[in-house]
Amino acid sequence: MLRRFLLLFVPLALGACVTTPAPADPAQVQRPVTSALPGTGVVSAADPRAAEAGAEMLRRGGSATDAAIATMLALTVVEPQSSGIGGGGFLLHHSADGTIKTLDGREAAPAAAAADWFLGQDGRPLPFMDAVLSGLSVGVPSNIRLAAEAHAAHGALPWADLFAPAIALARDGFVITERFREFLERAPNRAAADPQGRALFYDSAGEPLPVGTRVRNPQLGQTLEHIARHGPEWFYSGEHAEAIASRVAAESPRAGMTLGDLTSYAVKERPPVCGDYRGYRICGMGPPSSGATTVYAILKQLERFDLAALGPQSAQFWHLFAESQRLAFADRERYLADSDYVSVPVTGLMDPGYLIARGGLIDPDRRMAAVAPGTPAGVAMVWPDGDEPRDSGTSHFVTVDRAGNAVTYTSTIEGSFGSGIMVGGYYLNNELTDFSFAPEVDGRPVANRVEGGKRPRSSMAPTLVYDARGQLVLAIGAAGGSTIPVQVARALVGVIDFGLPLGEAMALPVLFSPGDTITIEQGSALEAMVPSLQAMGHSGITARALPLKINGAQRTSAGWVGAADPRSEGTAVRE
Ligand code: GLU
Repeated sequence: MLRRFLLLFVPLALGACVTTPAPADPAQVQRPVTSALPGTGVVSAADPRAAEAGAEMLRRGGSATDAAIATMLALTVVEPQSSGIGGGGFLLHHSADGTIKTLDGREAAPAAAAADWFLGQDGRPLPFMDAVLSGLSVGVPSNIRLAAEAHAAHGALPWADLFAPAIALARDGFVITERFREFLERAPNRAAADPQGRALFYDSAGEPLPVGTRVRNPQLGQTLEHIARHGPEWFYSGEHAEAIASRVAAESPRAGMTLGDLTSYAVKERPPVCGDYRGYRICGMGPPSSGATTVYAILKQLERFDLAALGPQSAQFWHLFAESQRLAFADRERYLADSDYVSVPVTGLMDPGYLIARGGLIDPDRRMAAVAPGTPAGVAMVWPDGDEPRDSGTSHFVTVDRAGNAVTYTSTIEGSFGSGIMVGGYYLNNELTDFSFAPEVDGRPVANRVEGGKRPRSSMAPTLVYDARGQLVLAIGAAGGSTIPVQVARALVGVIDFGLPLGEAMALPVLFSPGDTITIEQGSALEAMVPSLQAMGHSGITARALPLKINGAQRTSAGWVGAADPRSEGTAVRE
């Protein structure tokens, strides 16, 4: 399971020569941007142009939902490697009256999909990139349905208005940033797999267009214009839906997506998954996402330790953080999948007694020799671990309006540039590679195996945090594949335990330990702690430039403050 991830990021053992690329020059990366004025709203997103699109909606009197939808649409244009209308997402809505709604707009497998979807003729799992760059990887694009559902419930502005900034960016053009150019260089096999993508982002010699080039995407402008004018149905029925289905089917070696898969796609409202940590209530997205249960397990298993006293400079804190991840990911691997298809013991996994007992396994000074999944209450079947690959390409954004409504929304096309297949000026996702390729292990079915209509397990963790008075104090989420719950948990420890402002909590380094190895963020203070971690029994520590990107907003005494990951081009914009 970890093997493919390691191949993707080419790690280097610490202690040997460390020659992985240096992190982006801080001078070229925007620092956490804060914005606070009492009574005004805020948008935090991974791209300033998308954040501005959302803020424009707030200025026009739009709601947090309007702003979030405008941000999602603008990201389709300016950050096409990460998310967009060719993919899906999870949206949490906090109403000023205190109610939470969690919407599952996850891409679904076509009805024709079955357990052998990702098996080759020899019965073995397909090579990862063969699956990605084919119609097999494409789930039903669901962000437009998700936006429509959210808008119907909480929108204030007319639907068409939300599209104006994205249409302008597509028609008038947007400038290629350094980060985007890096993605074009790194992933031409995906970005230029389709003639549309090649023509948009590469020159006639096949070189990525230089930083600063203005790119116009009139085809996407037209697609957005149609959805704005004719509503979401234009996307899910008729000519455009036919074009998606036939293109995906044509790129697939099996009978694949049909028009019926698009017309029948439905967003599902799921129960919020919440738990208490040091007097705060942490609420997130349940199955098919593993986000809420994994973030909460990492935190709750650590509650017995005085993390505040240890602080982020202490190697012991990072040891504890690693050990808690190992426990949380063992359960995630075993139990998390689409709960409409398999029984997921969410209540048992969130049970404080269960998590406190799991946390009791952690030795404060020594790495646990072995970690196995636990047995939470409600386990109907002990599934074997799947072989889900790990990929990264996603965007998170947060909006808060002046009435106090908030949205935390993670939008994705799965890997960078998704499947590489383009329709109507946007990339189609490769979300289905979030399923386990192997449907069974030793004759036992894997929970996250492919099934018709099923939604692949996700790591996405849009999160809302309430204080002891029930007041919303944080809205947060991240991109970066299975590092997502870890990034979110680290930021929450930063705010709750270390008392840091959100921007600083997001800037803390990341240590990722989902199994027997540890990956530390290259160039961070963690590198100096390696000898101490080794003395506590950790081995196999590698330093790597991890795919980190987190966005959020925090209530302060001066009002809502937005913050973006200093490693990213993200920013926060005030209403
Ligand atoms: N598709 C992944 C998931 O749902 C997210 C990929 C990423 O964040 O880069 O967990």
